[in-house]
Amino acid sequence: MGDMAYKARHKAQGLCLSCSRPSMERADLCAVHYWSKLMKDRCYHEANRSKRNKAVRDRHKLYAEQGKCRDCGVDLIEGEGTRCTNCQDNHNIHTYTKGGL
Ligand SMILES: [Zn+2]
Ligand SMILES: [Zn+2]
Repeated sequence: MGDMAYKARHKAQGLCLSCSRPSMERADLCAVHYWSKLMKDRCYHEANRSKRNKAVRDRHKLYAEQGKCRDCGVDLIEGEGTRCTNCQDNHNIHTYTKGGL
């Protein structure tokens, strides 16, 4: 457990946990290591997001093939397009609000 004692000591002295430079306020890391950690976290989130997006796209495709609403999965009535009336309304509201005025 030498590592923990080392980190505790650095923390107590206000030094970076990864090197021994003075750490940034409330970060326990120096600017260099703080930013590299931030970037790593961001990459992780980005990777997760694209995975999630793919899952949503796959679901949309499946629903479309089955003639169902791509958002909620109910069976579509002919002429409804790719979404049921309900979801189409929601979609329109989102599109308008997102687009701004
Ligand atoms: Zn550092
Ligand atoms: Zn729907």
